[in-house]
Amino acid sequence: MNGYWMIFEDGSRGYCEGQTAYDAKHIAEHLTKKKVKGSYTEMQAWVLPYPAEPVIWQFDHPIAGKRPTYCHTPENCKGNTGCPRRVACTE
Ligand SMILES: [Zn+2]
Repeated sequence: MNGYWMIFEDGSRGYCEGQTAYDAKHIAEHLTKKKVKGSYTEMQAWVLPYPAEPVIWQFDHPIAGKRPTYCHTPENCKGNTGCPRRVACTE
């Protein structure tokens, strides 16, 4: 599963996981009944290295469980597959 930070048409934001960005968008829209901003090719969703609050949906691994919401600055970290800081932004 990959995690994405997305912006909805009402301006609210959230983190959702999926196989792809489109999969995550569909899951998020289904659960929130909201629409992710942007067109099909320019949707407002970016990969995020770690989960962030608020979580819309997250894969619950049968052994490892859910990953903690380590990212505290998703607006700065969005689009990065690794945290730009040396220590994930829990500090
Ligand atoms: Zn971060």
